[in-house]
Parts: sequence; structure tokens; C-alpha cells
Amino acid sequence: MPAVTADTSTLPVIAAPAGAPRPVRVVTTAPEGFEGDGFPVRRAFAGVSTAELDPFIHMDQMGPVDYPPMAARGTDWHPHRGFETVTYIIDGTFIHQDSHGGGGVISDGATQWMTAGSGVLHIETVPEEMVRRGGLFHGIQLWVNLPSRSKMIPPNYQNLEPADVVLLSGADGGALVRLIAGDLGGHAGPGSTHTPIVMVHATVQPGARLELPWNPGFNALAYGLEGSGSVGAEGAPFGQGRLAVFGEGDSIVLTAGDETLEVLLLGGEPLREPVAAQGPFVMNTRDELVQAFQDFQSGKLGTIPAGALRPFRG
Ligand code: MN
Repeated sequence: MPAVTADTSTLPVIAAPAGAPRPVRVVTTAPEGFEGDGFPVRRAFAGVSTAELDPFIHMDQMGPVDYPPMAARGTDWHPHRGFETVTYIIDGTFIHQDSHGGGGVISDGATQWMTAGSGVLHIETVPEEMVRRGGLFHGIQLWVNLPSRSKMIPPNYQNLEPADVVLLSGADGGALVRLIAGDLGGHAGPGSTHTPIVMVHATVQPGARLELPWNPGFNALAYGLEGSGSVGAEGAPFGQGRLAVFGEGDSIVLTAGDETLEVLLLGGEPLREPVAAQGPFVMNTRDELVQAFQDFQSGKLGTIPAGALRPFRG
């Protein structure tokens, strides 16, 4: 159960415009893997081309997993350059620190929007208390590309608290729409982005249908966090661990089946620039990647602060 919930009858209604719902181009199934110190993830974008994802690069669904005591894991210190990491925690807690002076707690509906820009070192891990106790953990880490003109901007950090999220209701009251960043039908989410992007978490009740307006200039991706149902006016089967890539049109349709459907929706204006990505760096050329590795090795991306947060491993 996501932590940010609301009675939809009290919320502004968001209705889709007249026009064509976007057709479903493809639905893929995310392979499972492990990340960081060994926590389970689904690789949401696996098998989808860079052009279809643009301006998004990579996304992992972390859990949902009910950890027994002493099993919860995060990441140790590592670098990034050239893009933004967006960590949305639905259930459970990550603690975070970076070499630029940022840090804090990401918990129960909060989002940490970190702009790596020219370079930063950071850690995202589970607090000792949650490692000891175990418990439910569920979140997303999304990588948003930066345009070439912004790849070397100074690092920045936005802490989007659960109370900052803009809540909206679907037209029939059967869906709760959480707007985390960008513009959706004239409503503005709290996250500030470098190019036009929208990020939404929608909960569609069993049997309900949600049709959302979608900027015709954006790409459109829907990822199933939990539950099952269908996507598009054509009713393509959809659910947990599946990614739908939509074609052109004015709106997106989601329909829940017999269980509640939790969906992360992403859209943005494509950058249409070359992507050279390797490990923790996302640049435009191979030369820039080589430079990023050299700069990391020589400490130019930052250093681990004295007395820094470290993973608790018991
Ligand atoms: Mn990272």
C-alpha cells in the first residue's frame, strides 16, 4: 500500500481532452536482477530502445519486498555525471548522503531528485533500524537524461516530501493520481526539471478506468508497479513488471482488472541527442565517458566526506 493516499471525492478531477487515446506500441516484461549491495530489482526499461525512452535512460523497480531482519540492502558510495537520479520510495526508507552536501531521509511517498550534473558521489542505503527489524520496501530509481548544454551544470538536490505531491482524482473517482513532477492537464507537480517531463504515480481501483491528458509532444511510458489490468483503448494486457510504450495521441488509458493497479507514468520531450552511457555516467560521446572515468579516478567528481554515512551490514 502506498503511503500517500486520499479520498478522491475531495480532490480536483482531471479529465482527458477530446481526441485520440494513444495506441499501445509494445508491452515488455522487465527482467529481475540485483543492484547495489544486492537488493532485488526489476529492470523496467530492458529491451526498449534509447529513442523510445528519450529523455529517460534507465529505471529499476526496487521490490516490493518484505525483508526479514538483517536482509535489507542499499548501495555504497558511487559516482554519477551527466544526468539526474530520481528515487521515489513508496514503502520503507532510504537514507541518503552526497559529496555536494545533500542528504536526508526518503520515506513513504517521498522523492529525492538528484541532479548529478558535472559530478557527485552519493550513497543510498537502508537505516540500521530497518535493517535490524526488516519490513516492506518498495521504490523506484529513475535516470533522467540532461541535455548536452546542461550535462556539466553544478550538482543539485531536491527533496520532495510526501505532502508536496499534487493529488488529483480520475473522472469517475476510481483513481488517485499523484503528480510528482511536471505539468498534467494544467496542474503542476513539485519537481523541477531541466527539460519538460511529467512523472505520475496512479492507483486505479479494481474495475475502474483512468484516462489522463498527455502532452502530444511527449513520449509516453507506463510501468506496472503492482496489480493487473490493461492499457490503451484497445485493452492490451498489463500489470506488475510490465512496461507499455505508447504511440502518438492526446491521452493515456489505464484500466484495472480484479485487483488495484499501481502504475508509474512517465513522459517527456525527447532530447534527440547521441547517448553514450556506461556504468554510472551518461554523456553524449565516448570521449566524454573516458573523461568522466578519469575525472572520477582523480577525485574531481568529489570525495567521500569525513564521518560519512556507510551501509549498515550488522
Ligand atoms: Mn546512484
